[in-house]
Amino acid sequence: MIKALGYFIEIIRGSIITIRHFVVNMHFHIMKVLRIKTKRKGAVTIQYPEERREIASRHRSLHRLMTREDGKPRCVVCMLCATACPSECIYVEAEEDPDPEIQKTPAKFIIDLSRCCFCGFGVEACPEDAIRMDTAEIEFAEYTREDLIYDLDKLIG
Ligand code: SF4
Ligand code: SF4
Repeated sequence: MIKALGYFIEIIRGSIITIRHFVVNMHFHIMKVLRIKTKRKGAVTIQYPEERREIASRHRSLHRLMTREDGKPRCVVCMLCATACPSECIYVEAEEDPDPEIQKTPAKFIIDLSRCCFCGFGVEACPEDAIRMDTAEIEFAEYTREDLIYDLDKLIG
């Protein structure tokens, strides 16, 4: 009997805490909807898409390929990024560059984002700083896997 009473008290205590959080959060949320400034935000929920979470400067977002002053990719097709990639989703194909100082340039540079785990290993491995993940773009959902295959045009554009 005493044990059952203890359980009952705990249920009441838990319910009071839940109801208190609900009422307080609703109060601040309604204030926010009415554009009345308050000391704090109510619910921690982010009202996406009107409201967006701030992206940290070191966040690994959508890839981009860096270019030289003449607009050509900085990539020298050393294959280090493709070798470091644990998902094997980078494919690079070389062609000869007319500039003997550069020698090789990518004829194809493909990243299959449907397989990418956004580890950033390829960026770390690149000796030319030719590939970065600093676009702050995190919304690139597509309807097909094929649309998630990024080629030179998409990576440079
Ligand atoms: S972020 Fe990681 S998994 Fe994605 S392409 Fe780069 S190395 Fe591969
Ligand atoms: S590591 Fe850098 S230079 Fe080498 S293939 Fe990848 S992007 Fe190009």
